[in-house]
Amino acid sequence: MALSNPPLDSQHTKGRFTNKVSIITGAASGIGRATVLRFVNDGAAVAVFDINEAAGKQLQDELTAAGHNVKFYKVDVAHKEQCVEGVKKVAEEHEGKIHFLVNNAGIGAPCKGLDSSKEDWNKVLGINVIGYSNMVQACYPFMTKAEAWDCSVVNVSSVQAHRAMPFHSGWTYQASKGAVTAMTKCMALDLSANGIRVNSISPGSTWTEQVQGVLGERKNCEATVAKRLMSRRFGEPAETAAAIAFLCSKDASYITGTELAVDGGKLALGPEAL
Ligand code: NAD
Repeated sequence: MALSNPPLDSQHTKGRFTNKVSIITGAASGIGRATVLRFVNDGAAVAVFDINEAAGKQLQDELTAAGHNVKFYKVDVAHKEQCVEGVKKVAEEHEGKIHFLVNNAGIGAPCKGLDSSKEDWNKVLGINVIGYSNMVQACYPFMTKAEAWDCSVVNVSSVQAHRAMPFHSGWTYQASKGAVTAMTKCMALDLSANGIRVNSISPGSTWTEQVQGVLGERKNCEATVAKRLMSRRFGEPAETAAAIAFLCSKDASYITGTELAVDGGKLALGPEAL
């Protein structure tokens, strides 16, 4: 049976994040960019944090022209002082309050396995793990100023936190995502004292620039990687974004400290999935 993409409906969530202030990291492309689009659809003001100035500004300009409240900030999440400075500027523009943080900025390479150097480890962990911690530490004081249970953090992890991949020698990446999934539970406990929920999301094979960098051209791996998933296809960034928005929404009010896989059945398939 030929399966086409299911329709993604974002009409029914329009406006649910009105008066909410969000920061999305790694927001200039891929899953982050799709999350910006979903959050503005849902009515949020969005701060785009990224190191890619050209793409970040272009997104800001496009969405501002369409009447949305979106501003780009050049922030490298691996540098705590940049996170603190960027978050402070966002808060100053929004009466000192921040409601949602989506920790999404992440890198996959280098994937050197046995040959991983100290520099490789520092680079990947510095962005994928310490970067997430930097951002939570920077946002926390402003989240405590919002109403209890109005705030939420979503950490983008990966199904790779739970498995090895045959063609991807990702010691550093896999370890970083394992850390995100575990760290999320500790953050959820600590921030619960202030009514802030923290969850992680684990995308599977979602077609973005990062994936193209690892797997090559999409058409070449549709038949190998994607066709073996229960979904029979790669995920779209907008599908991950919809799940991130759900976790931030009131519909997820009793969900904290957990991990949600958005993976077309990849984890459930186990070794059958490439
Ligand atoms: P992507 O490469 O398309 O986008 C990543 C964005 O992060 C880019 O805009 C990049 O400029 C930005 N970025 C990189 N380093 C940064 C830094 N130090 N500070 C600020 N911004 C920085 O990647 P993607 O596929 O959209 O991945 C987004 C997240 O999802 C990552 O954490 C990734 O590990 C995770 N993920 C992706 C997949 C997938 O299949 N695409 C699967 C599992 C997990």
